[in-house]
Formats: sequence, structure tokens, C-alpha cells
Amino acid sequence: METRTVRVGDVLIGSGHPIVVQTMCNTHTADVAATLAQCRRLAAAGSQLIRITVPSLSDVEPLRQIHDTLRSEGISVPLVADIHFSAEVAMAVVPVVEKIRINPGNFHPDHSKARVLFGQFLKRCKQYDRAIRIGLNHGSLGKYIVEKYGNTPQAMALAALEWVEMCIEADFYNVVVSLKASNTVVMVQAYRELARLMQERGVVFPLHVGVTEAGNGDSGRIKSCVAISTLLQEGIGNTIRVSLTEDPEKEIPVAQYLANRYGMPGQAGHDGQRHPRLDRGALSEREETILKAACDWGAPLLNHQVDDIPLEDTYLKDEIMQACRRRFYKPEYIACPGCGRTLYNLEETFNRVKEATAGFKDVVIAVMGCIVNGPGEMADADYGYVGEGAGKVTLYRKKEPVLRHIPEDEAIDKLIELINSDSVSRLGD
Ligand code: SF4
Repeated sequence: METRTVRVGDVLIGSGHPIVVQTMCNTHTADVAATLAQCRRLAAAGSQLIRITVPSLSDVEPLRQIHDTLRSEGISVPLVADIHFSAEVAMAVVPVVEKIRINPGNFHPDHSKARVLFGQFLKRCKQYDRAIRIGLNHGSLGKYIVEKYGNTPQAMALAALEWVEMCIEADFYNVVVSLKASNTVVMVQAYRELARLMQERGVVFPLHVGVTEAGNGDSGRIKSCVAISTLLQEGIGNTIRVSLTEDPEKEIPVAQYLANRYGMPGQAGHDGQRHPRLDRGALSEREETILKAACDWGAPLLNHQVDDIPLEDTYLKDEIMQACRRRFYKPEYIACPGCGRTLYNLEETFNRVKEATAGFKDVVIAVMGCIVNGPGEMADADYGYVGEGAGKVTLYRKKEPVLRHIPEDEAIDKLIELINSDSVSRLGD
């Protein structure tokens, strides 16, 4: 798909340019030494953009130090500030980094005020020659959008289109858009719809493609690959992130596999095309087999061209079928990748939750790193385990907090009790 070209520092995103691989730090931004060390490792691993969370104004100065130190060391990887909610923080980081990721709808609860703030933000980005990503996630669309359009892939695309229109009106074109979801079906439909709407509008911004809260291990990789590969084969997607609840360095080889396999967006299905900066040596043979199978079968399953797949490895087959939401053989897990807002060991906890709940079926369980964004991002989870910080956890049933301030070491048992008691009451219905 032909898109405009966006420049982020010395990285070009858009048709005519190879797919750009990116990831995000999961350190605390205020911990400058740890974030710098992680940025160096991510740059060395091949991340072409690095996103860093900026939860508050007090994180802007550490971000500046991180940026300037990397440049003084000759590391030119552009940095992306990840902003949630605060237009004030968004404005403050514009002079500091090359790109800013925002969800403009969250700038203010009053939609007309959010529009005014977004207009001011665009002016500032133009003044400093920055790039932006308009990033909307399923599950955190905001009241105005859900009331106006509903909570569907079409709603996500229409909501994004409103901000796209504002960029065009402001004559600001250094824009990338993303519409992530943890549900692969929703995610693929949302991107397709937005691509169609932008083509119809006649201005097509590059798309940042990813499955949010994909989880970890084989499941996280497979979920990401089935959905991202489906879109890349259609020429949709110019920059990708494989979001895993693991060390972000581990995301890079998976994203590189996808970028290598699908090469240039707009030249769909050109297997074997190589990106000169990508290194495939980082994948084990087993991992490569898994990624290949996920990419081979993702599109046929998601597009309902096949109902089953001829894989002898039943584990791999079950995982791919579940990632495409065609058959569920275990609980469906949602887990955020963690970031500077996470105040507990997310990866270890997620693995413990998975182990403890493996016996349940037909249930969606979310494990989220923070209470600020976690509940909103859990999308259609039946139960949520959300870190509050200070060793405490809140458990959710759907969107409702049902048990608050539980000590971390009791939280998994309480989660099991909650699921069990709901199953018993359902049986009694
Ligand atoms: S939900 Fe997870 S990734 Fe999102 S802001 Fe909170 S800790 Fe970070």
C-alpha cells in the first residue's frame, strides 16, 4: 500500500522503505542509568526506534539526559516518548525526542477540549520538526468514542480518522497511526478498515502494526506473528513492534523475522527479501519453526480460508488455532509488556498466573503492570490481575475491581478462588 513517508531522526517510515523494527524500554525512565543501559542493548540488538514511557513531567528531564547521552555516545537510534493522558507532558517532550506517541482522545475528558489541545500539540511538533504516532488501543477508546461509534474495529478506525483529518487540516504530515488490540481478529479488521478509509480520503499515513498485550513465550510470539504477518502480506504495516511480556531485547529477533520475511510493505508476499540491518542469527531453530508456521497459517485461518491446519505437532497447532481465535484449548491470556510504570516483576508473575490457571477453559485472564492504564487496556478480559504498586494487587471481574489492595503473595490464590466461585455460581444458575 502506498503511504506517505515519515521521517523520525534519520529513520524513514513508509512505502518505499523497508519495514522498521522497534520496541520499548521497560525500565523506570527516572532511573537514567538503567534506561540508558537498556537503550544501548536494544540499539545493538537492532531496534531502529526505541520508545520510552514518560508518565509525568518529572520524567522529562531524565528523558533529555538519556537522549543526550546516547547521542554523545554516537547512538543515533531515534527515541519515541510514550505519553498517556497528559497533554502537558506531551507538549514538554516535543523539544526533547524525535517522535511522540499520543492518544489525543485522552488529552481531556471533554472531546472538544481534547481537539483544541491536540491542535496546539501539532503546532509545536511542526515547529520542532517532530514525528508523532496517533496510537489508539482497543479497550481504551474513551467514553466519547465508544458512545459515538461503539467498541468495534470500525469504531477504532473512525476514531483514528478524526485525528488524521486534524493533522491534514493543520498541514502536518509527519504522522504514523496504530490501532492495536490483543484480539487478533479485532486488530486485523481495525487496520484494514483504517487503511481503506485513508485510501478513500487520499492521504495514507504509514501504519505502526502490533498486537498489544500479546503475552509471552510461544503464545505471545505466535499471536503477534499470525496477525502482523496477515497485514504485512496485504502491504499494510510500515513499522512493527512485537510486544512481549519479556525483556524487550527478545522482541527484536521476532520482529526482524517478520521484517525479513515480508520485506518492503506494498510488495506483499516477497519472501526472502532481506533488510540489510537485520540479523537472523538471534533465533533458535525451534523459534524459527514456530514463527514460520504462525506466518504460514495465520492469514488462511484469520481469513477463514481454512478451518484446520495439517500440522503434526499438536501443541503448535493448538497454539496457532487459539492465536487466530478459531479454537480455544486453554485460557486466553492478555499481559502488557510492562514499562516504566510497572512496579513488580511482571514476567515472573505472569508465568505464575499462567501455571496456576492452566486448568481453566473459556476464560480470558489479564495480567497488567499498572493500575493507571492496565484496567483500561484489558479489553475483553474476564478477570484482571493488576499491579497497584507497593506489593499490592487489585483483582478485576470484567471492568469492575472486586478485591483491592491484596498482598502480592496472596493474589494468585485469590484470583483462583474468584474464578472458581464464579464457576460454581454459574453452575447453580
Ligand atoms: S498497562 Fe503495562 S505497558 Fe501499559 S502503561 Fe501500565 S505497565 Fe506500562
